[in-house]
Amino acid sequence: MTKRERSQKIFQEAKTLIPGGVNSPARAFGAVGGEPIVMARGKGACLFDVDDNCYIDYVLSWGPMILGHTHPQVTAVLEDAIHKGTSFGTPTENENRLAQLVISLVPSIEKIRLVNSGTEATMSAIRLARGYTGRNKIVKFIGNYHGHVDSLLVAAGSSAATLSVPNSPGVTAGTTGDTILLPYNDVSSFRSLFAQQGSEIAAIIVEPVAGNMGCVPGSLEFLQTLRKESQKTATILIFDEVMSGFRVARGGAQERFGIIPDLTTLGKVIGGGLPVGAYGGRTEIMDHVLPQGKVFQAGTLSGNPLATAAGIATLSEIANDPFFYDKLEQKTNFLADGLLELGRKNGVKLSVGRCGSMMTLFFPSDRDDVIIDWATASRCDTKRFARYFWNMLNRGIYLPCSQFETMFLSIAHSDEMLQQTLDAADQALRLDR
Ligand SMILES: *Cc1c(COP(=O)(O)O)cnc(C)c1O
Repeated sequence: MTKRERSQKIFQEAKTLIPGGVNSPARAFGAVGGEPIVMARGKGACLFDVDDNCYIDYVLSWGPMILGHTHPQVTAVLEDAIHKGTSFGTPTENENRLAQLVISLVPSIEKIRLVNSGTEATMSAIRLARGYTGRNKIVKFIGNYHGHVDSLLVAAGSSAATLSVPNSPGVTAGTTGDTILLPYNDVSSFRSLFAQQGSEIAAIIVEPVAGNMGCVPGSLEFLQTLRKESQKTATILIFDEVMSGFRVARGGAQERFGIIPDLTTLGKVIGGGLPVGAYGGRTEIMDHVLPQGKVFQAGTLSGNPLATAAGIATLSEIANDPFFYDKLEQKTNFLADGLLELGRKNGVKLSVGRCGSMMTLFFPSDRDDVIIDWATASRCDTKRFARYFWNMLNRGIYLPCSQFETMFLSIAHSDEMLQQTLDAADQALRLDR
């Protein structure tokens, strides 16, 4: 049994100071039982806890650390930026550099606004879509998570799914009253809703590759249908690429699937580990944002010098290596195929959801072979997942602490680390067959 005395002591103290001891519920180990581990530092694909145990990290701060922890280039630009001043509340040149990088990489984005989190990005994109169209209703898919925006906090995946909270207390019926829920990847229910109400709907918001009910890629037919139908009714299609952006391809899911949304929200990788979010799209829509247009959106620390420095350094690394995404995807496929093989060998029913460097190992119910939506995801054997999680953790593999979260690969995950992970999984699955 791994020694975690200091970790336990610090977490006991945290619980007296912070609700549940955590500043975001996804970090609490509620879905797997037990207490989270207090981390002290990271290097490459590894995390070290306060008791100096070492883990191969497949959480990567829930997505952002695509280059691994303390990447030398990111660390160097941050050191340089910190001496020049940490916030001015004025325009800075690096905001242009980050904007240019994103515009050059993400097909649908002509103009972009920087914010401080994914939640701010989706909240602002919804407001802009409503302001631009003059309509109120929005469509959201069950099991998709778009941050903790009131109007989107219904049937949200992530921690909300994990904790089975369909609607948070404090979110009023009034704020979610204009949110229409539909099943993910279900073309026919979408078509019938749109046939009736399409012209009243301001926006469709979707995770093109869902990552907050576990990794569940949208089908090409589903995403193409959203694009075609929304174009007919002049409804704004918002791709929430806070997770899939710079993850499933250099230009996100929109590049991978060849579908151009009207607005895109970004976060996670775009800040390289610092708090950054963004939303962008066609100039003609984006110019409705204040002070160019009338839709209000602001932020004291938006475009912060440290955050833009880390974002530029991270996106430059991925933009300059033509094989970056091939390498990442090879790593993911090696791990995913290896896990499926171990399932067959050990007689444990498994399914993998994957896209680019996102993946989830599902323990599907007897009824399901593949996970395509929240109905199939929610039937997975979460008790079995919890046992697998702890068996992996005790072998030095740090996985997301819920069946309904996504694992991430970084460019720093070496072949030896992936093999070590498969060896641990072989033991974990054997223990549990
Ligand atoms: C993480 C996430 C968000 C919220 O981003 P925060 O930075 O946590 O506010 C929104 N949408 C998706 C798809 C996400 O994965």
